[in-house]
Amino acid sequence: MSRTVYVNGEFLPEEKATVSIFDRGFLMADGVYEVTSVLGGKLIDFEGHAARLARSLAELDMAQPISHEDLLAVHRELVARNAIDNGLVYLQVTRGNPGDRDFVFPDPDETPGTVVLFTQSKPDLRDNPVAAAGIKVISIPDQRWARRDIKTVQLLYPSMGKMAAKAAGAGDAWFVEDGKVTEGTSNNAYIVKNGRIVTRELSNDILHGITRAAVLRYAAEAQMEVEERAFTIAEAQAADEAFVTSATTFVTPVIEIDGVKLGAGTPGPVATRLREIYIDESLKSAL
Ligand code: PLP
Repeated sequence: MSRTVYVNGEFLPEEKATVSIFDRGFLMADGVYEVTSVLGGKLIDFEGHAARLARSLAELDMAQPISHEDLLAVHRELVARNAIDNGLVYLQVTRGNPGDRDFVFPDPDETPGTVVLFTQSKPDLRDNPVAAAGIKVISIPDQRWARRDIKTVQLLYPSMGKMAAKAAGAGDAWFVEDGKVTEGTSNNAYIVKNGRIVTRELSNDILHGITRAAVLRYAAEAQMEVEERAFTIAEAQAADEAFVTSATTFVTPVIEIDGVKLGAGTPGPVATRLREIYIDESLKSAL
């Protein structure tokens, strides 16, 4: 069945939706994106994603091409038109189509940004068998650019990381830089030792996960100890448990790192509890 998608102010059937070959998103990966999950037809952490979009655009000197109010309205309209119960809304903003290829940014008054949104239905998002089983991860060098705090569409290296993980029979890869884990290919990384949650501190080295912010807030409210600092793969392999967070995986346990099982090799109690808390709490403020 054809989806209804949104392109530059219009709701269209997906087969009618097009973007120019001169779009800078296509030619230069000059664009940013957000992914907002949908549970029970409601948007999870929408305000966080909207705020991070504004920050990513500002960091790249791109104009905000759609108001906050309209952005929420378009998200909701797409969820309704596509009857999404569980799934996600993908949003991409690029520096638009200047009608030619040039490294120099076009004048924003003459070249408006391109705005594209579409939905993906994921019935298993909440009761995900992958989360119930936990995932294995491998480590690989972090060879991404140095501004990972900006959520750009330059996802080739993370895709290569996912492929390396798949080839190794794992579910994901954790990036390592200067001997320390930065994050997963599409998620933030955590370990748990003696009840204390450890995750890398915020900087330009990692994406400032919206799920990370919420999970750390809920962990603090539940009197769990949290330490924001970098950790090594060896420390992670000696941890009691580990997990990752992202908008579409929520909290997903990690059960093995580079072939070494963590604890009993099954999802740990802290990750399992945090997943429940995150889903319950974020549903309360879902839009
Ligand atoms: N880190 C990276 C590299 C990501 O790509 C993502 C999500 O795509 C995250 C972390 C998690 O961010 P969020 O919780 O906002 O989805």
